[in-house]
Amino acid sequence: MPVNDTYTDVLIIGGGVVGCAIARELSRYRVRVALVEKELDVGFGTSSRNSGVMHAGFNYKPGSLRAKVDVRGNALMDDLCRDLGLKIKRIGKLTVALDEADVPTLNRLKEQGDANGVPGLEIIPPQTMQKLQKGVEGLMALHSPSSAIISPYALTIALAENAAANGATIRLGREVTEIRRPAAPGESFEVTTVSAEDGRKETFRAKVVVNSAGLFSDAVCRMAGITDYRIYPCRGEYYVLDKRLDGSLSTLVYQAPKPNAPGLGIHLTPTVDGNIIIGPSAEYIDGREDHACTADVMAALRKEGHDLLPSLRMSDFIRNFAGIRAKQTPPEVGGNLDFVIEDRKDVPGFVNLVGIESPGLTSAPAIAEMVRDMVAAHIPLAERDDFNPRSGRSPFFFSELPPDVRADMIAENPNYGEIICRCEQITKQEIIDAIKNPLGAKTLISIKYRARATMGRCQGGFCLPRITRILRDEFGWKPENFLLRSVRSPLYAGHVREDKGGDVR
Ligand SMILES: Cc1cc2nc3c(=O)[nH]c(=O)nc-3n(C[C@H](O)[C@H](O)[C@H](O)COP(=O)(O)OP(=O)(O)OC[C@H]3O[C@@H](n4cnc5c(N)ncnc54)[C@H](O)[C@@H]3O)c2cc1C
Repeated sequence: MPVNDTYTDVLIIGGGVVGCAIARELSRYRVRVALVEKELDVGFGTSSRNSGVMHAGFNYKPGSLRAKVDVRGNALMDDLCRDLGLKIKRIGKLTVALDEADVPTLNRLKEQGDANGVPGLEIIPPQTMQKLQKGVEGLMALHSPSSAIISPYALTIALAENAAANGATIRLGREVTEIRRPAAPGESFEVTTVSAEDGRKETFRAKVVVNSAGLFSDAVCRMAGITDYRIYPCRGEYYVLDKRLDGSLSTLVYQAPKPNAPGLGIHLTPTVDGNIIIGPSAEYIDGREDHACTADVMAALRKEGHDLLPSLRMSDFIRNFAGIRAKQTPPEVGGNLDFVIEDRKDVPGFVNLVGIESPGLTSAPAIAEMVRDMVAAHIPLAERDDFNPRSGRSPFFFSELPPDVRADMIAENPNYGEIICRCEQITKQEIIDAIKNPLGAKTLISIKYRARATMGRCQGGFCLPRITRILRDEFGWKPENFLLRSVRSPLYAGHVREDKGGDVR
């Protein structure tokens, strides 16, 4: 099999929110940046499988990296979302003391948060809690106004698309299988990648390598000879509730955390798009990509959902999903260790990120700044004067535009007049724009994450055949081209009926 060689200054391994934030940050400078991702799109790992909460930063010990990058990342998020055209809702959070035993925890969290520089923290009585969220019960709560919600996959995609628009190379479906350290000072790393689609190898030669491989960060640094770390996967399962309940929650409500718990507990979280999610559970598992949702956890989440929102109907539970925490502690130890963000002295030029579990989503832009400074110790970074923080695809939802703007757009382009996804009111042109994304991602989940089609109550029952028809008629896709998420998930198996002019079946 022929091997291609690609030369770059910095190679980032992993296209989660952290790797994509680093690619975008480095694309401000006059350096060659490449990012390789083993899946067929960015954000297919933990970065699309979480609560989507911008944590305020009071849960982490003062002086820890987690506290530092969380508070900084949260503060950077408004400008970042404005530049990338993303929604962010600063809805705040109540961390509730249900009984006397929780009160010292709240006091400790407040002290910790104040020391970390979290703005506006206040311990509030039940009457004030009720004003912020009707029906919430408890002795008192810690209110954090800077807690917010965003769409985690939209953020990851937008970071990657903006980095690409500013010159970064994003290579999808390329798994790193081998890393050779520089043979002598001044020489490059040789990083071998294998294509998920055709098995072809491509070697990247880079002066600096950034390991941002999430759940596989221990395996990737082992390839470079670093054996200090081990990741223990810990799964969190969720239910997604129908938009009928939009508006039921005006703020985030969490119970006070229990000592040594692996996560922040099960809670109801509104999403920026109007759904509510219930979860996540916490269960150590063997497989790093075992995203199964299990009957027991689903039953427990349904019960929890009914307890927290008594008006819930069975038909409101429209989907489930799971994300996996990249823990550095085994189940018998529990709790969390601090993030590892290091410029390895024993492997010069290897920037190593390990154990970036929660709040990695919130912290991504701040981690990117830290990594930029580490890269600058190896390669001089001169700012470009043509960096455009807003270029790339700007996502917008046609149905959210004012009626007169929509009418003008339909008059100019009739594709805006054709609704493909009825639940989410997504037009044909939005589907086409998602297919033509600048990263060249070509799975059905890539279209879903960009256009929101198939995310509604019918979960694709109505729109999936229409999307497949667009792909066939306007982009010439053959049945074998239709992949849900990866080469291991073809949409069609066996004989596919020729159905001229109709849907692909
Ligand atoms: C249940 C749950 C809830 C969470 N809730 C929140 C929250 O509300 N707020 C918050 O701030 N954080 C939250 N987090 C944490 C947050 O989701 C993660 O910290 C963040 O997504 C980590 O991003 P990442 O880029 O490091 O990892 P990932 O998103 O996992 O990205 C790593 C990428 O590397 C790729 N990769 C791996 N190996 C290779 C290889 N050999 N070659 C090429 N590519 C490779 C993977 O395919 C993957 O895409 C939550 C996490 C979980 C599991």
